[in-house]
Amino acid sequence: KLRGGRTRVAQFGPDSLTRIYAITSGKGGVGKSSITANLAVALVDRGLTVGIVDADVFGFSIPGILGLEGARPTRVGEMILPPIGCGVKVISIGMFLEPSESARAVSWRGPMLHRTMQQFLTDVYFGDLDVLLLDLPPGTGDVAISLGQLLPQAEVIVVTTPQPAAAEVAERSAIVARQTGQRVIGVIENMAGLVQPDGSTLHLFGSGGGDEVAARLSRGQDERVTVLSSIPISVALREGGDAGVPIVRSNPTDPASVAIASVADRL
Ligand code: ADP
Repeated sequence: KLRGGRTRVAQFGPDSLTRIYAITSGKGGVGKSSITANLAVALVDRGLTVGIVDADVFGFSIPGILGLEGARPTRVGEMILPPIGCGVKVISIGMFLEPSESARAVSWRGPMLHRTMQQFLTDVYFGDLDVLLLDLPPGTGDVAISLGQLLPQAEVIVVTTPQPAAAEVAERSAIVARQTGQRVIGVIENMAGLVQPDGSTLHLFGSGGGDEVAARLSRGQDERVTVLSSIPISVALREGGDAGVPIVRSNPTDPASVAIASVADRL
């Protein structure tokens, strides 16, 4: 069990040089975790030291995507050392639950979630990270607000599908982040057109959603929010996620890998 109590997040406090990016989305299943994991690996492959806090209490999937299924943190005295998957230091709520307990995580109330996030950021020893990625739960819930308060310096990236109808819920998740003082730096559109064998593109989930969210988030702001990348539907990306082998490494020429790597180059 995690211990109770601390109020500071020392290793990521005001003096920390770690760049922190919170990856959020309006709803689940849009590929937020797949992108977070692959982006982390792309950053490792650029020579950076990278960690992920998997804060998606409702669907902690980062360990699986990075080949860390069943991995547990190591305890050294007071310290908790995160497991390393594909070169990324990962801590996830799933790592602290017994298999029989997994279903209970979703019933945790706000204060419990807040304490857990605080402990992830204090008791888990990440060492000097260049980049910390936060995989937030979808929407505007307690975890997003807690992490906004604990890490106001985090910069926010919103993942959305190309469906313009999903733009409003995606926008809301970014507005919550702004309310805690976080800066929204861009939008990633995922599950964009699928290139078919005949060369034509099938827009399974429509098009324009990324631009729509970016336009909404730019309204009334000094700085325009842009679409950082549009990631196509990729069977290889999905298979890699299921197998615990991120495609940015196993299949770097896949168009989805190229699109994710382009985000890594822009951060
Ligand atoms: P979220 O974190 O937003 O809930 P996930 O990353 O878990 O979403 O993705 C949901 C499912 O969609 C997973 O099975 C994942 O492999 C798949 N997926 C994500 N992005 C793509 C994509 N670009 N092409 C094909 N499948 C994808």
